[in-house]
Amino acid sequence: MRKLSSWLLILGFVGLALPGAAAGQPAPAGTFDVEAATDAYLARLTTEERERSDAYFEGGYWLQLWGILYTLGVAWLLLGTGLSARMRDLAERLTRRRPLQTVLYSAQYIVTATILFFPLTVFQGFFREHQYGLATQTFLPWLRDQAVDLGLAVILFPLLLIPLYGVFRKAPKTWWIWGSVIGVTFMVFVILIAPVYIDPLFNTYVPLEDESVKDPILSMARANGIDVDNVYQFDASRQTTRVSANVSGFLSTMAIRLNDNLLNRCSLEEIRIVMAHEMGHYVLNHMYEMVIYIGVILVLGFVFIRWSFDWVLDRWGKGWSVSGIGDLAGMPLLAALFALFFLLMTPFLNTIIRVNEAEADLFALHGAGEPDAMAEVALKLGEYRKLDPGPIEEWIFFDHPSGRSRIHMAMTWKAEHLDEEGETALE
Ligand SMILES: [Zn+2]
Repeated sequence: MRKLSSWLLILGFVGLALPGAAAGQPAPAGTFDVEAATDAYLARLTTEERERSDAYFEGGYWLQLWGILYTLGVAWLLLGTGLSARMRDLAERLTRRRPLQTVLYSAQYIVTATILFFPLTVFQGFFREHQYGLATQTFLPWLRDQAVDLGLAVILFPLLLIPLYGVFRKAPKTWWIWGSVIGVTFMVFVILIAPVYIDPLFNTYVPLEDESVKDPILSMARANGIDVDNVYQFDASRQTTRVSANVSGFLSTMAIRLNDNLLNRCSLEEIRIVMAHEMGHYVLNHMYEMVIYIGVILVLGFVFIRWSFDWVLDRWGKGWSVSGIGDLAGMPLLAALFALFFLLMTPFLNTIIRVNEAEADLFALHGAGEPDAMAEVALKLGEYRKLDPGPIEEWIFFDHPSGRSRIHMAMTWKAEHLDEEGETALE
């Protein structure tokens, strides 16, 4: 809370520089009922729309559970049948160079695991998305995207696994520290190259051309100390009906991008508030903050692996022909234990991200001054995110504030600014 209120102070000063903020219906101070206004927005969705969105989002909770059971099952199959050991033996027969063995093993492992996971992937990523009207792709283009994903994994993962298995073997006591360093470095590398080399494999990114949209966005960027001359748009409608925007990249590759669903379905006020939110992530350095958080979580993860890997191996792994953490044949166990660890960390990871998202929302309100537009966007996001969860449910499962939280924040902000209606500055 301390942090939140100090941001409010800082952001308040940002708001001073912006003309025309605090749009909304004029009302005398003190008569605006935040709770009633929030409920009125939430009531705009029909019962069917609400049930549909709840069912989609709550289904996601179960998918997390099925996903981890499936992951453990796949690991069990690869280890228990000796398939993993055979893939390692093949890699060792083909070359004596350790890094190349890692490349050969990981390619076999990634392809095999992708095939074994395919039933779950196709249900979750294709049929279920269509069932809820969120997908726009037919099966073949979808399959093509999956194939590109697979190719990327085969190419990129060795960059993580070669140094990782190097330290597993060469630093028997401290590999968990070096493993974390390698993990963070790999993550930063992928974030850095994603906007330039990965994202364009799935969508087309072009500079936003419509000046009636671009100019107000760039004006807001300048006012908030962001030195850009371009905003990008991309054809997310190729895959989905979802409205979204993002900040991606790292250092010099960092860019703000908005999807075409947002451009087609939202008013200028709504686009401005979404872009102000993305600028919030940028100005508040959320990318760099996340790298530090993930680094800490990775250290904890490797501590968990150090303890659990040998424990599982001692208890169940007699017939697996896996000699220890440095043995490539143990990769399915390593992957399964990491999946389990990250599942257990979900509430903490979600909360870290959700707090940043709420900060970006506050930044957006001060930057764009469009509380009603923020509420409208929250309703649109409610198509795929449960609008009104319980507090514990939100804490565990939500990586963004729920629709109710966002609308409530916007209405609170609105109530506090209504008495300055018509003024050009927020004083
Ligand atoms: Zn965000």
